[in-house]
Amino acid sequence: MDINYNELVQLAIFTRQRAYAPYSNFKVGAYLLDANDECYYGCNIENASYSATICAERGAFMQAVSVGARKFKAICIVGGLDEITDFCYPCGVCLQFMSEFCDGDFQIVLYNGKEIRVHTLDELLPHRFNKDQLK
Ligand SMILES: [Zn+2]
Repeated sequence: MDINYNELVQLAIFTRQRAYAPYSNFKVGAYLLDANDECYYGCNIENASYSATICAERGAFMQAVSVGARKFKAICIVGGLDEITDFCYPCGVCLQFMSEFCDGDFQIVLYNGKEIRVHTLDELLPHRFNKDQLK
């Protein structure tokens, strides 16, 4: 698996500029890479009815799945209030959402403004509910 992490980070940072976060001002960008190296992007989109807010990660997956993508290699996530100064981990809902389409070795790439950190889905959501349990 040959992934250019620096490029993913730069594209996630670019996507973050489009975030709509007037309430929290916490802007997140996500860049998703599928098995064919096609890319999809998402930003967080807040709503005056807070529970209608959607995360950047799920936004990227919705774009990808909507055009037929089903297998994925990695997602890069960057977020923060003003500058990016810390790693922005995906929330539990997004991890569960990813687990529908991603194997345990799916890579979750994070950036804190200085360094890149790479996790797998297995690391961040080890005991997940999945479709195998519905058979
Ligand atoms: Zn989320």
